[in-house]
Amino acid sequence: VARGDPAAAPSPAARADFDAAITAVVLERELRRALDRQEFELFFQPIVRLGSEMLAGFEALIRWRHPERGLVAPAAFIPVAEESGLIVDITAWVVAEIGRVLPGIMRAGLRNVAAIEGSLFVSVNVSGHDLARASFPGMVCEMLRAAGIAPGSLKLEITESTLMRDPASATDALTLCRASGMGIAIDDFGTGYSSLSYLSTLPITTLKVDRAFVRAMLSEPRDHKIVQTILRLADEIGIPAVAEGIEEPAEARALAAMGCAYGQGYLFGRPAPLAETLDRIRSWHADPAARRAPAA
Ligand code: C2E
Ligand code: MG
Ligand code: MG
Ligand code: MG
Repeated sequence: VARGDPAAAPSPAARADFDAAITAVVLERELRRALDRQEFELFFQPIVRLGSEMLAGFEALIRWRHPERGLVAPAAFIPVAEESGLIVDITAWVVAEIGRVLPGIMRAGLRNVAAIEGSLFVSVNVSGHDLARASFPGMVCEMLRAAGIAPGSLKLEITESTLMRDPASATDALTLCRASGMGIAIDDFGTGYSSLSYLSTLPITTLKVDRAFVRAMLSEPRDHKIVQTILRLADEIGIPAVAEGIEEPAEARALAAMGCAYGQGYLFGRPAPLAETLDRIRSWHADPAARRAPAA
């Protein structure tokens, strides 16, 4: 190609695609190394019973403790991990880590039964790639068996878009997991494409109302109606709902009044590392005033 030939210069769009591809390749290699070097960590965010504010369980949320960049949020690497298929290895790590920490979480819960609803559960996020592997249900069951944890203490969270990727294999995997006793939650409900038909074919046990609706609920009548409709739908099919992203007491009150069973959000606690989570379980107070007071 002759120097100065305009046809030889990539268009800005092609250049951006190229840069994105390079970034993805570099990030993928870094993620593999991060797995080898044990740089991932699970944080846990409380899920509470609305109204009583008893502690019900936690959502496990992954973080990458990068040696130079510090704590990296999942939004910065989960999409690339999903595109490359590396998510399967990351999920395998998450499942193993849950097996390592869940017995301690359950034990901590038994020491504070007055402020805890039943026995605690932990929910984990899984992707469509995970469900497409025939080995997935067996892997999770084996983890639970080895850890001595009742399957009912684990919930799998999946998004609608995840279900749509490969509905047949997702249905098979989730049916097996549910049959062994695990809970199945639809995450970010209302934001994916959905025909809703999966609600009748899949063994769903929880609907998680997306933060986008909760955030707008008190200022936008439409969002309020959407939340109300999702809660009614959950109630009609006989499963509890969890509202995500609750930041204000007024949101918690409005959701409780609408019959939403559970809530999750900064109001009740930000995601925190394991040690802090164990302290939080042992010192949980259903009374928010006692909970928010500084530790004596
Ligand atoms: P998600 O499963 O919908 O998780 C809820 C997200 O909302 C979390 O973000 C949480 O920190 C955030 N959040 C909770 N309460 C509030 C609130 O009151 N206000 C605000 N502004 N945000 C709140 P995070 O931890 O950054 O995770 C983002 C997403 O990354 C998750 O969304 C999930 O889709 C994905 N993810 C996280 N951990 C894993 C994992 O282990 N595996 C997979 N496959 N995906 C994961
Ligand atoms: Mg989730
Ligand atoms: Mg969510
Ligand atoms: Mg989300």
